[in-house]
Amino acid sequence: MYTIQNYIDGRFQNAINSKSMESLNPATEGAIATLPNSDYRDVQNAVESAEQAFQNWSQTTPSYRSKFLHAIADGIEKKFDAFALAETEDTGKPLWLSKKVDIPRAIANFRFFADHILTIKDFSVQKDEKATSLITRHPVGVAALITPWNLPLYLLTWKIAPALACGNTVVCKPSEVTPVTAFLLSQLMDEIGLPKGVCNMVFGTGQDVGEFLVAHPKVRLVSFTGGTQTGRAIEKAIAGSFKKTSMELGGKNPIVVDQDADIDQTVEWVIKASFMNQGQICLCGERIFVHQKIFEMFLEKFIKETKKLTVGDPMIEQSFMGPLVSKMHFDKVKNSIALRIKEGARLVAGDENIEHEKGYYLRPTILTGLTKDNACHVDEIFGPVVTVEPFETIEEVTRIINESPYGLCAAVFSKDQKRAQEVAKKIQAATVWINCWLVRDLRVPFGGVKNSGLGREGGDYSVDFYTEYQTICTGT
Ligand code: NAD
Repeated sequence: MYTIQNYIDGRFQNAINSKSMESLNPATEGAIATLPNSDYRDVQNAVESAEQAFQNWSQTTPSYRSKFLHAIADGIEKKFDAFALAETEDTGKPLWLSKKVDIPRAIANFRFFADHILTIKDFSVQKDEKATSLITRHPVGVAALITPWNLPLYLLTWKIAPALACGNTVVCKPSEVTPVTAFLLSQLMDEIGLPKGVCNMVFGTGQDVGEFLVAHPKVRLVSFTGGTQTGRAIEKAIAGSFKKTSMELGGKNPIVVDQDADIDQTVEWVIKASFMNQGQICLCGERIFVHQKIFEMFLEKFIKETKKLTVGDPMIEQSFMGPLVSKMHFDKVKNSIALRIKEGARLVAGDENIEHEKGYYLRPTILTGLTKDNACHVDEIFGPVVTVEPFETIEEVTRIINESPYGLCAAVFSKDQKRAQEVAKKIQAATVWINCWLVRDLRVPFGGVKNSGLGREGGDYSVDFYTEYQTICTGT
């Protein structure tokens, strides 16, 4: 059992209102942690501390900050097992997945930005013999970093690492559903001697902490990852304030399987893309479009392989899937399945509750037979549930895909690379994978288009986001 405290101004402390709440292990339904149920007063203190710390931190050199980022990465490496266990107990994802993806990627985020910041150069432009402009980058100020429950450590470090590397100070608001790894991270920052106030962690709800944090006048930058509805509420709360904003939001990601795709390999990828982390990755596919020539063959193989997947105790190596993150989310996903069946979908795999005494377990679920323009195709489910539909032409399928209000990512499977690239270009999505999925290169721009978000982070794009340019023009 973890007793989580806020980390503000370099001190661990309870919420000023003394309120707390529990975080549950979704596999056992037992409490895994108590955490502060903070309010605006804790946020106020954290923002003031971050503002104070900004005076010095923003003046330090990139190499000074780089060393701290590497020290944090070293610390996570040393405590790898503790982080992986906390990630699994808090989210329900299998331990092998925490060890293979979440924790290594969190380490990679710190290492990458620790090195990348050393490659950033200022530059000058000479207009004529009379004037030269020097263009430099400067940190923005206090950054509010707000993250969801599905990849709690990975997504938080994806924001903290570039924000600190660029010289900003931060106030983080991790998801109240999965707070433990953020707490372990703050303990680590304390241990390595990160100057007080550079990174503050305030635990609590979106309503009591998040809303006040984003609207705080001393916060100059907001980086948010979460649902589209919440993103919209934040945009409203900060309208007119001209804060720098990055919104990484929801999706309804399509997968296109063309007539010449290798069925065995494609099914392997599609299973990962549909059900990894119980389908609770923003980049998971939810609508699978298969060319009608291979539709029956693909569906048969997809069902067969899906039925082989083991769902169970996340601590066991053999479990491909663990439980969904919470009772509330479990009920939401079950309702989404019921709605689709009511609207005419045929259930061809899954939906049974797993026989466990406790835990929010659900089998990977495949639905087919909905009409392409069915209204329920619009909503993100964010669980182990996919619909499979046949298509006749690329024009038809790209038109249907682009009718979606979302545009986070997509995947295309075809042996013909050139044709696949042509399809990819027609799809309105920020990232399109061809014959693969979830391959990440931290240098490339990451984000969404349409209702999936605003702005890009990753490599130079993060440096652009977490800094402001200044031009000093000198005349003779
Ligand atoms: P959510 O929007 O409910 O919550 C995300 C965070 O925002 C939490 O910390 C929450 O406490 C906080 N919050 C809630 N209301 C707020 C408000 N009014 N002001 C400020 N903060 C507020 O999302 P969730 O349920 O935690 O996560 C699931 C969603 O996140 C899905 O829609 C998924 O697609 C999306 N997601 C997107 C990406 C991406 O990179 N695009 C990555 C992961 C998850």
